Amino acid sequence: MENVTVFCASSPKVNEDFLVEAEKLAEELVANDYGIVYGGGAVGLMGRLANRALELNGRVKGVIPHFMVEVEWEHKGVSDMIHVESMAERKHILIEESGAIVVLAGGIGTLEELFEVLSLKKLGKVRHPIIIVNTNGYFNPMIEMLESMIDENFMRQEHAALWHVVNTSGEVCEALRNLPEWSDNAIKFAAVE
Ligand code: AMP
Repeated sequence: MENVTVFCASSPKVNEDFLVEAEKLAEELVANDYGIVYGGGAVGLMGRLANRALELNGRVKGVIPHFMVEVEWEHKGVSDMIHVESMAERKHILIEESGAIVVLAGGIGTLEELFEVLSLKKLGKVRHPIIIVNTNGYFNPMIEMLESMIDENFMRQEHAALWHVVNTSGEVCEALRNLPEWSDNAIKFAAVE
């Protein structure tokens, strides 16, 4: 696997811990020779992730729709930038360009991206490891919600392996090395029966 896709916040106004975690993820991925694929933004966790990776001479690829370029949201220092027409096309490329997904703290955009890839993986359309970095327990309510989907039989017990939670960015590459592969027969157990 050469590239890892990162979904994370665009907000710059969050607690500094979240922004620093994005820089630490850049350090972890560059040190382990992964290229970073991300949403192409210049601010928030996205900006801090890209800036730190570029400082370290890491490989960074952005994917951003034209309408965000028009409102100057694009990171101007990322030369490997793919411009697309729609959010759907952007998400498709963000997933297709890499072999794994890492999710840092974020808002509805980040959660939408995470839930799309979880849903595709449940249906066997992708097999990416999906690692959630649970900085300061930010994602605890969301993880509880996912677990109650299993407890209430909206998903099967096997689906707990769709995602993997770590506490810090420093644990991401070890998790990537050790996670078991997702079944290419996932569609066979996608439905609750
Ligand atoms: P959020 O977690 O809501 O901050 O959303 C992060 C995602 O939302 C990004 O991948 C983009 O799809 C989009 N997004 C929202 N605001 C921006 C921004 N200022 N610059 C770039 N992307 C943004």
